[in-house]
Amino acid sequence: MHRLATLDHRHLWHPFTQMRDWLRHEPRIIVSGKGAVLRDVNGREYLDANSSIWTNLHGHNHPKINAAIQRQLKKIAHSSALGLANEPASLLAEKLVEAANEIHDSRFTIYDSTGNPARKSRIANRKLSKVFFSDDGSTALEVALKLAYEFTHRTHGKSVGRAYSRAAQPQFLSLEGAYHGDTVGAVALGHIDLFHQSYSGLLFKTDKVMSPYCYRCPFNHAKPERADAREYRKCNWECIGKIEQTFSAQKKKKNPYAAFVFEPLMQGAAGMIPQPAGWLKRAADIARGHGALLIADEVMTGFGRTGATKSEIRNPKSEILFACHHEGVRPDFLCLAKGMTGGYLPMAATLTTQEVFDAFLGEYDEFKTFFHGHSYTANQLGAAASLASLDVLQSTESIRARARLEKNLRDELKNFWSLPNVGDIRQAGLIAGIELVKDWRTRRPFDLRERVGIRVCEAMAKRGVLTRPVGNVIVLMPPYCTTAAQLRRMVAALRAGIAATLKN
Ligand code: PMP
Repeated sequence: MHRLATLDHRHLWHPFTQMRDWLRHEPRIIVSGKGAVLRDVNGREYLDANSSIWTNLHGHNHPKINAAIQRQLKKIAHSSALGLANEPASLLAEKLVEAANEIHDSRFTIYDSTGNPARKSRIANRKLSKVFFSDDGSTALEVALKLAYEFTHRTHGKSVGRAYSRAAQPQFLSLEGAYHGDTVGAVALGHIDLFHQSYSGLLFKTDKVMSPYCYRCPFNHAKPERADAREYRKCNWECIGKIEQTFSAQKKKKNPYAAFVFEPLMQGAAGMIPQPAGWLKRAADIARGHGALLIADEVMTGFGRTGATKSEIRNPKSEILFACHHEGVRPDFLCLAKGMTGGYLPMAATLTTQEVFDAFLGEYDEFKTFFHGHSYTANQLGAAASLASLDVLQSTESIRARARLEKNLRDELKNFWSLPNVGDIRQAGLIAGIELVKDWRTRRPFDLRERVGIRVCEAMAKRGVLTRPVGNVIVLMPPYCTTAAQLRRMVAALRAGIAATLKN
């Protein structure tokens, strides 16, 4: 065994990993990367088919991001944001605010209890104008959670929207299968029993509401077809009705929800569950109509992951970087991490409104300060990488390459419908989830104990393609620089991996 592998086995504890399994095999030790390729200590190359757990945007060792970090490194790596400002963080905050307000979300629709549109709101959604930096996706959510909680407390009794007043005991609503990170507050917002149940004693209570998992939705009366379930579903938007009913029931308890927390367009760790067109706008409008704040977790979906629109491809200046914007939703909190630095460094941001910011203003001795922060908040190297990544992202070349890659991915995956163990193929932009089932005609799932997803990914790794499953869903999330030939290799490895594991 390589000396580094021995050291790893001796001392490291890996995330989301059954360490008994881990210790049975010599680990792959990555020493370098270029574009979509990772190279291990033995010189073997792999394609990074999940962008290093959804973080990498433009490929590894990108010359522009490398140069930006090196330029910043010659000046300073880090100085504290507690008491000091710095150059790249200020510049980055300006850019993030600009991108976050790209859409003109004005008034919103108010729905009745059956989920049908009733009328337009009188107030418009507010702009995002303030940025709180932190370290990763979990901390971005913790910041949003604490701000929303305290903001609700402080504005308790004041009316919002149509005759709602903010609650005295702020309650949060998130989606079934939600995952928002692993720190305790973020775990409390989550609803994946496998990850979260053991810690229930540590958590505060949050509520969950049905998420639109069309493929397995009890309200979808369509028989399985060889197409994305969102397209052939037969339902009456009962999932939206459930959201309205949940908000109404909470209001009757005289404690309306303080905030609605969601991943827009695609729920990642829940199993790559995409929302049908129109769901997000309707759900967000219902929450707004009930006076709830919107917390959008774009840790996975942000920075172009959910694809480019036709108008962007024609005019890159109108670029949509965030999933919310595809449905014209502007949240009160926008949580960003993973891809923000292009996948280089751990840095995150929580964007919010002037209104929330103002609730924390006061004289020193009123102690209204937001008492929260991290040692590396607004780190210069991370901010410099993020600025360079945004530059690349907003270039015409990158927008066109993403649009091409998205189409290629869609075309390549069409061939998988012929496989009997492929139940659903779900794609949003450059995120794809392929759900493996016992038989597509019955949608019968594999038992998690069979480790089908893990085995398929192991078979892919043997063929030089790295990704990780979410249960029985295989994730393909290529870096934006992936070439057509590399994509074909990723897809070919997936096909061979399924064949080797399931004999089809
Ligand atoms: N939110 C979402 C949607 C995520 O996918 C993740 C991580 N997979 C997180 C939050 C937590 O981010 P981190 O791992 O950077 O703490």
